[in-house]
Amino acid sequence: MCLKNIESNLKSIAYKKSIPFCYSCYKEAPSGVCKTCHSDDLMRLIPGVGCEYGTEWVVEELLKEDLEAVDTEEIFEQMIEECYEETTKVGFMEFSTVELMKNNDPIYWSIAQSEYVDGLAQDEQLISFDNGSNYYWIHDLESYIEENLEGAA
Ligand SMILES: [Zn+2]
Repeated sequence: MCLKNIESNLKSIAYKKSIPFCYSCYKEAPSGVCKTCHSDDLMRLIPGVGCEYGTEWVVEELLKEDLEAVDTEEIFEQMIEECYEETTKVGFMEFSTVELMKNNDPIYWSIAQSEYVDGLAQDEQLISFDNGSNYYWIHDLESYIEENLEGAA
C-alpha cells in the first residue's frame, strides 16, 4: 500500500466514522445536506469528542483512539542494543551501553535518535500525520485500514 493510498483510505474511514453536522443549526445531517437550512457546508462530528471542519482531525482522533503511537525512544534504544553490546566495560566497571551513551552526550544522542526515526519514515516504515509528534508503523495502519474499510473503497 503506498502512502497516498494510506492517506486516502484513512480519509474514507474518517468519513465513515464521523457524522456530517450543521453548525448553524447545531444538528446532525447524515444525508450530507442539512434538513433545516439546506446547507451542505457541514462539519464532521464525532459524538462525545467534538465537531470541526475537515477530516484531518478525525483521522488524528481515530488513530489516537485505536492505534498505539510508536515509542521512538524505545525503538532507538532497542536498535542500539542490537547493534552494540547491551553493556560496555569501562576500566573495571560495566555499564548499560544505552545509558552510558545517553548520559555522556545527550545532544548527540537525541540527534542520532531523530535521524534514525527520519530514516524509518523515509523507508516508509513509520509515518506521522502531525509533523513528527506521533509516529505510527505503516504495517499497523495497513491492518487498521483493512479492518475498518470493508466495503467502503
Ligand atoms: Zn442547518
